[in-house]
Amino acid sequence: MAELAESVTNMIGELSKLPGIGRKSAERLAYHLLRVNKSEALALADSIRNVRENVRYCAVCYNLSEQETCLICNDVRRDQHTLCVVEQPRDLMSLEDAGVYNGLYHVLLGRVAPLEGIGPEQLTISALVDRVHNGDVEEIIMATNPTVEGDGTALHITNLLGECDLEITRLARGITTGSILEFTNKEILADAMSGRQKY
Ligand code: ZN
Repeated sequence: MAELAESVTNMIGELSKLPGIGRKSAERLAYHLLRVNKSEALALADSIRNVRENVRYCAVCYNLSEQETCLICNDVRRDQHTLCVVEQPRDLMSLEDAGVYNGLYHVLLGRVAPLEGIGPEQLTISALVDRVHNGDVEEIIMATNPTVEGDGTALHITNLLGECDLEITRLARGITTGSILEFTNKEILADAMSGRQKY
């Protein structure tokens, strides 16, 4: 194999660390970025820098945010008494895109996965419990993924909040077991939300 400029080899190495990108794809992307005009390639670099320097987790719900608290938490038109619990910011985005929910969220930043050594203390569960104790939450909708781990995580939280005076519901199972919330289409999400059931 011909020797590549060191900077090109570096870029291929960085690209191949991305999920779903193998060595061949990384090479293809690298050559693409060398071929397009410079401003286009630098716009990508700038957008990555911009996101990493300006985006953080919302101090209240752990959604992605450019401010201390996110746009959803700051929106007074939303129902302040309902929290929807999701695993990842991208799950929140699916629900927002579907337009089926008008309350607030709590993003766990993962799920309890004992086999991977991920326990409840590595998630934002204690912050959720604090929110419930300090606020006037009337309903919590569990929207963790319908997987063994997602279900286990929801059950763990339900047990923790068992003594609290609120309703805990779970999205209806229009969603096929094992499917990931982020890939579910809008109609199914709308059905799952409107048909949610008590724990
Ligand atoms: Zn927030």
